Amino acid sequence: MYLIFRCDCGRALYVHESNSVKRCVCGRLIKVKSRRILGKVNSFEEASEIVRKLQEEKYGKAVLMTADKYGENE
Ligand SMILES: [Zn+2]
Repeated sequence: MYLIFRCDCGRALYVHESNSVKRCVCGRLIKVKSRRILGKVNSFEEASEIVRKLQEEKYGKAVLMTADKYGENE
């Protein structure tokens, strides 16, 4: 089972349930039990897919708008 949660920096993360801590790319070491768990899934593939969707919800539109602007300029 994999647990899905967010870091304080807003990044979505997943961790295998056997792990009690996870280091985010922002450098924070997160105690999994201290976080609100957003989801639980059985496979690594599902976990990475959900994390990707959560990231898109938060950052996806801004990234797309930036890409569109670059496209127009070139
Ligand atoms: Zn973080």
